[in-house]
Amino acid sequence: MSILIFCILRVIGILSSMSGKKFMDLSQLSGLTPLMQQYFDIRVQFNDALLLFQVGDFYELFFDDAQKASSFLGIALTKRGTFQNEPIPLCGFPVHVLDHYVTKLVKGGFKVALCQQLEQAVTGKMVTRGVTQVFTPGTLTSETLLDSKTSSYLFSFFPTKDSWGLLFSELLTSQIHATVLPVGGDRSLETELFRFLPDEVLLQAESGMGKFEDFFKQRGFFTTRHKLAIDQEQLDAVTAWSQQQFSGASCVELEKNPSLVSALALWHSYLVKNQKDAAQQFKEIHFYRPDEFLLLDPATQKNLDLVANNVDGSKKNSLLSCIDKSVTPMGSRMIRRWLLRPLVDRDAIVQRQDVVAFFIQHPALLHQLIILFEQFGDLQRIVGRIALQKSGIKDYVQLGTITGLIPKLYELLKNCPAVIVQHLLSTCIDFSALHDLLTAACYDGELQDMVIKQGFDAHLDSLREYVTQGDRKILELEAAEQKRTGINSLKIRQNSAHGYYIEITKAHADAVPAEYIRQQTLVGRERYTIPFLQQIQAQAQQAAFSIESYEKEVFQQVKDKVAACITPLRQLAEAICVTDALLGFARIAYDQGYVRPEFNATRDIIIQQGKHPVIGAQLVHQFIANDTFLTDEQSLWIVTGPNMGGKSTYLRQTALICILAQIGSFVPAAHASLPILDRVFTRIGAGDNLAEGKSTFLIEMEETAQICLQATKHSLVILDEVGRGTSTFDGLALAQAVVEYIYEVVQARCLFATHYHELTYLQDHYKGIVTYYADSKKTEQGILFLHKIVKGVARQSFGLEVAKLAQLPAPLLLRAHDLLKQFEHKDQGNTQLNFLPVQKKLPQDNQWEQKYHALSQTHNQQAGLIDTLKHIDCDNLSPKQAFDLLWQLQQESKKI
Ligand code: ATP
Repeated sequence: MSILIFCILRVIGILSSMSGKKFMDLSQLSGLTPLMQQYFDIRVQFNDALLLFQVGDFYELFFDDAQKASSFLGIALTKRGTFQNEPIPLCGFPVHVLDHYVTKLVKGGFKVALCQQLEQAVTGKMVTRGVTQVFTPGTLTSETLLDSKTSSYLFSFFPTKDSWGLLFSELLTSQIHATVLPVGGDRSLETELFRFLPDEVLLQAESGMGKFEDFFKQRGFFTTRHKLAIDQEQLDAVTAWSQQQFSGASCVELEKNPSLVSALALWHSYLVKNQKDAAQQFKEIHFYRPDEFLLLDPATQKNLDLVANNVDGSKKNSLLSCIDKSVTPMGSRMIRRWLLRPLVDRDAIVQRQDVVAFFIQHPALLHQLIILFEQFGDLQRIVGRIALQKSGIKDYVQLGTITGLIPKLYELLKNCPAVIVQHLLSTCIDFSALHDLLTAACYDGELQDMVIKQGFDAHLDSLREYVTQGDRKILELEAAEQKRTGINSLKIRQNSAHGYYIEITKAHADAVPAEYIRQQTLVGRERYTIPFLQQIQAQAQQAAFSIESYEKEVFQQVKDKVAACITPLRQLAEAICVTDALLGFARIAYDQGYVRPEFNATRDIIIQQGKHPVIGAQLVHQFIANDTFLTDEQSLWIVTGPNMGGKSTYLRQTALICILAQIGSFVPAAHASLPILDRVFTRIGAGDNLAEGKSTFLIEMEETAQICLQATKHSLVILDEVGRGTSTFDGLALAQAVVEYIYEVVQARCLFATHYHELTYLQDHYKGIVTYYADSKKTEQGILFLHKIVKGVARQSFGLEVAKLAQLPAPLLLRAHDLLKQFEHKDQGNTQLNFLPVQKKLPQDNQWEQKYHALSQTHNQQAGLIDTLKHIDCDNLSPKQAFDLLWQLQQESKKI
């Protein structure tokens, strides 16, 4: 009784939240139609999702759901029936367009509960309905809803007072990655989040989780609060479940980490609610320590455009888009995963390199593999959907084709000695029985409703023959009736409402036999039936029904046989993903002339003729390669140079080459000898985070602080323009202090690009700090960027030259020139800065432009002369050379 009252109260709660009204007494619930009663019974269990309620051939949404869905989907909002004397809002769409609308809703950030009719509808009886699936961003399985090149993770997070448990699961591969962080490790949590980029973050619905929800939301993640009290009973239950599912080693690891057990309990309960049998598919947990991978914090990931660009967040111009040359979508997903989690285990990296090297040495094999892998499609997700029983006949047909390719794959790779390929070969077990079964059983033709092939099952064939005979009987009956009645236009047709009928135009009404029973009158036509036709109809219906249920049975037997092979199929798919990703690395290395990096035992980063992987591939012939020698003797480089000189590109390319090396790829260089880095940090450019209430400069300082705190002597630190977001002296002071700290305290390898030329004097005070600059040349036409990084100090930043390239208005540039001269003058001891009055109205004629060009040309020529003077090597000049030079300088100065 108390349960009943509780349920009714819950219904009332839901109703009131849906209609915005308070329900005062229970009696108001009376008078609900049975359909609405059923709706509310189900609704109350899925109150955080839009409920798609199947009514015949439609999915319908009611109340608030209808209002939200109709305005989001742009479908009509209507009304059906009343509740509390008010019309019930309703919208809906046909069953066959479910995929389309669910895709839209889920991508629009809604959770969707799919409530289907679970039995054949029978007149006069309420059909049983139930929620068969809840679509949430982290539990999707359908091809149309998922991005084929991105893994989809559900992240369960559980903080306890001793530690934070993190659990990332991927439904279609049934993989769980788990780790534990110390309490309060916001930065580490952020790093782990960005290593997986989960589609959904799962949190307990308890009130204490609010601050974590904010944390995830501010970083753009979709969160779900799941109601589950984690008490001892829950923990015991999930521990017992884990003991059945996972290996002893995993259970021991879980036992040591209570926060992980809680995260698992939360995850398990959520999955059971939304994807019933999915949890059963997970057979192992991969425990990892955060330092088992190269640490790339979110800022670094973003600054380096690793998997998405910094401009619009798409893959365009990202490192991923440039190096992803794998053939299958599963290979692409693997490369993406590797980029987010590069390795620090030298042996594991070398194993990947061995495969890439082997493929490059065998280009003909590479070519054959590309053709073969194209036919593998997305084996991993096909197997995943089959395991979750979310697949149709198409997946089984494809699996049949793929299993037939295994012998060929084995044959092609059997002589490759690389460990990773040997592992793949070990997964290429004999799938011929499965292949034979699937190709014999699964229908791959055009017919919509056919699942099992003709010839596979004799009984099914005989049932089908019965239907064919029925069709033949109809044709014979049609001919006989035409003859008997003399009406040549008499036709026997069929529709879903009336089944078979005889159709006769009204012109022949007089010739219709008396025993014809009228069924329907249409404009100009009448429809009839006769007992014999009804008899054929009944037989046909019976046969169709028998075929449907028997075919299902046969298909289930096929499915059961496939289900028994899921584990080896998953292992095969995983091994193919890895090989395909490495095949992608080999392709890009082959096409772009990448080399195999060596790993040295020192901390030296030595790159000869290195190129930026993305810009280098775009500017194939114009890109200027550069060297890097970050060694003990010169561990921190201060890089100066003009705007647009190529400093940022150079800094990034060094970091990208190191990262590429640690995912096992070859690198764009003539030679590379690298250490295994533990972390790569970058601080590049300006950006604010208004959602977190942080200004540009605060973000800059926070990122710098993290670098100073987290970098080690085994890290690479890239700092571009630190200290630019504040006043000149504050910025300069901070920049110098940061350089000194990284050099002396952190001792990481560091490239520091700056326009603070004052910093270059640090090389006179610290042995390992050296200065390099992006070379450029002043010409009469303006500045020429050489994009060559050379030892020394840049003379100027040439900001005005770059502003000119950007086509700032000429009067503005002229004014800037005047001001620059004054500033430079002031710098040389003249403290009187004479600010010219702001021009209220600038003349529109082109004299300004001419004047500016003349001035800028003079400035360039003067700078050229000074430059030449500065670089005269007086000690090695003969008297004759000195005279010639003097004469040349005089000639040039006359032109000014
Ligand atoms: P700023 O100081 O204004 O930030 P910068 O010195 O950092 O400029 P980059 O942004 O690295 O300059 O480079 C500017 C442009 O120069 C790049 O977009 C690219 O097109 C080109 N570039 C950079 N490096 C090279 C190179 N090595 N070879 C050819 N072109 C290059």
